[in-house]
Amino acid sequence: MAKSASENSALAPEILAKYEPVIGLEVHVQLQTRTKIFCSCSTRFGDAPNSNVCPVCLGLPGTLPVLNKRAVEMGVRASLAINCAVHEHSRFARKNYFYPDLPKGYQISMYDQPLATGGWLEIEHEGARKRIGITRLHLEDDAAKALHEGFSAADKSYVDYNRGGTPLAEIVSEPDIRTPAEAYAYLTTLKQVMLYTEVSDCNMEEGSLRCDANVSVRLRGAEQFGVKVEVKNLNSFRYLQKAIEYEIERQIGVLESGGKIFQETRLWNQNEGRTIPMRSKEKAHDYRYFPEPDLLPVHVSAAWREAIRAAMPEMPDAKRARFVSQYGATPYDAAVLTETRARGAYFESVVQAGAPGKSAANWMQTELLRRLNDSGKEIEASPVAPAALAELISMVEAGQITAAVGKKVFAAMFETGRAAKEIVAAEGLGQISDTGAIEQAAREVIEKNPDNVAKYKAGNEGVFKFFVGQVMRATKGQANPQAINDVLKKLLS
Ligand code: ADP
Ligand code: ZN
Ligand code: MG
Repeated sequence: MAKSASENSALAPEILAKYEPVIGLEVHVQLQTRTKIFCSCSTRFGDAPNSNVCPVCLGLPGTLPVLNKRAVEMGVRASLAINCAVHEHSRFARKNYFYPDLPKGYQISMYDQPLATGGWLEIEHEGARKRIGITRLHLEDDAAKALHEGFSAADKSYVDYNRGGTPLAEIVSEPDIRTPAEAYAYLTTLKQVMLYTEVSDCNMEEGSLRCDANVSVRLRGAEQFGVKVEVKNLNSFRYLQKAIEYEIERQIGVLESGGKIFQETRLWNQNEGRTIPMRSKEKAHDYRYFPEPDLLPVHVSAAWREAIRAAMPEMPDAKRARFVSQYGATPYDAAVLTETRARGAYFESVVQAGAPGKSAANWMQTELLRRLNDSGKEIEASPVAPAALAELISMVEAGQITAAVGKKVFAAMFETGRAAKEIVAAEGLGQISDTGAIEQAAREVIEKNPDNVAKYKAGNEGVFKFFVGQVMRATKGQANPQAINDVLKKLLS
């Protein structure tokens, strides 16, 4: 079990409160092109190791990279989605370093002329909205995957070059983030936007969304930032938050005991619940960046950029606002209903099929999303289609069945895929409005509960609910609630 961040240094809250954390995130998003960024090898995940390789992505001498236009297009989409200015001219550079996962001996990345700069994302945290600046988005090729674990011989490492050459967009935030929770909210928002634009599947477990956190602390009120530490190996949202929490307290602990923070890279170790040093930070010139001689500068014409913009889907913020104004959804409901594009589309289909917005929102949240979640299904694969849910809702609203029965019917629809009308007819679930039947049930309940009748007559109004519940139960939830109320009022007076 990981230690909590507070065990880190056991610093008193008033000591922690003296400092302000400063955080900037560097996020790598794998672009879901079919082929790699500089060759035609497949980018499919999970294929046999080293089966999707060629002389180009293996860095053999004499080969030349050819830029994948789809990767640039997706980079532009991603840039527009995070409100960046896309530059007409950008260019690739070589970032030189030596490691077995990099057969060329350099990564092809953008350096002094990135694809896009100057964007922002708005995050929401504890009800407050805040803009986080985005410095830049640039394209680069991914490294291969070094495999250190799971081999019989413990002293061996293997390299799978399938991933090498997969297109990445690196998105660098400004140091505008102030708390671990804001970092979490930023990454959540960024992931949602990348999913909306369909540039990436953002699967953290498969490595298509990766995040490094830069963390520093300064005394509150200080103008200058503190020295930053880069934390890597944050392969889940939870680890991101925990690692930042830990790192903030570690740095404050060092400063409070008279020490200094050195610029370095640290790794989050989930088992130990702490960050551990990896290397002191290389200076940029260590990479000996220079313009990539084998590729032309990237040209994104205004016409192409605008064509890409015109084809952008509605973004989550806009959809949320529209759900509030168009369907009367609460801001909370709108956020839930727009969490994914598919969810928003489902909701609008239910409404288009005739359900009022409020009921559609309620039924989706209370019944549909819960059951999808319990059964591990995506909304795209829902056994209840939007029109089928709309039909159920209309039966409840028209009083053909009670809301309680409606929930049972929904469960059966979800199980069997059958239509609401069919289930109600087959199982005789139609609403009982016949006061004769309700009255009989009510008389029986009253007879069996003389104590509660006495309490009610003595002025305990709360007992009335008990009687309603009992009659509802006796009629298997099929009785009209208003009719139960009326009958009970009459019989108990
Ligand atoms: P480097 O040259 O080390 O890569 P950059 O200036 O490019 O540093 O910044 C990298 C990331 O670190 C960005 O996300 C940026 O917001 C963040 N960052 C920069 N300075 C600080 C700081 N003092 N504290 C926390 N994060 C910082
Ligand atoms: Zn290849
Ligand atoms: Mg940098």
